[in-house]
Amino acid sequence: MSDALVIGVLALQGDVREHLTALAAAGAVARPVRRPGELAEVDGLVIPGGESTTISKLAVLFGLMEPLRARVRDGMPVYGTCAGMIMLADKILDPRSGQETVGGIDMIVRRNAFGRQNESFEAAVDVEGVPGDPVEGVFIRAPWVESVGAGAEVLAEHAGHIVAVRQGNALATSFHPELTGDHRVHALFVDMTRAKRAAESL
Ligand code: GLN
Repeated sequence: MSDALVIGVLALQGDVREHLTALAAAGAVARPVRRPGELAEVDGLVIPGGESTTISKLAVLFGLMEPLRARVRDGMPVYGTCAGMIMLADKILDPRSGQETVGGIDMIVRRNAFGRQNESFEAAVDVEGVPGDPVEGVFIRAPWVESVGAGAEVLAEHAGHIVAVRQGNALATSFHPELTGDHRVHALFVDMTRAKRAAESL
């Protein structure tokens, strides 16, 4: 593996390009990931926002679901936004038929919890681990986290609901920092990925 920190963006559906831009701005080499061979080459992975049932079905179709589970189980740093958060949940409260998740975070998510498309909104969110002012949270048909297990740490809440969670090297937010031009959450994830790689090379 080269010296550069390489972070992939799962590029099956969703706002892939915005994450590639945000990761590059936060100091990583960012690449789309569509095949198991590409997944094997990245230090960390972002699962973007989009539509979680579609991402789930395409991941199965592209032969990525099991390799994704294996790498997450292995401790690969992974960050999911919105639909990506749903993909990282061990359990969905209201899955659509055939919808699977990668899992990795001991949490139960509720899809579309904040309402439909026309109820999308923005709000300032204080995220543990992100220094400075609250981040601008963009919520688009966003899930919230109903509950977390003992291993998962709540990083942020909005209106009494959990909207950011971390468990080990897995990070998830209900909202979309990639749409704001503020790269501090991506910088947190790049730091997590760098720390994991440094620990491996000891
Ligand atoms: N509601 C969508 C889902 O269930 C997620 C929306 C988003 O990622 N912006 O997948």
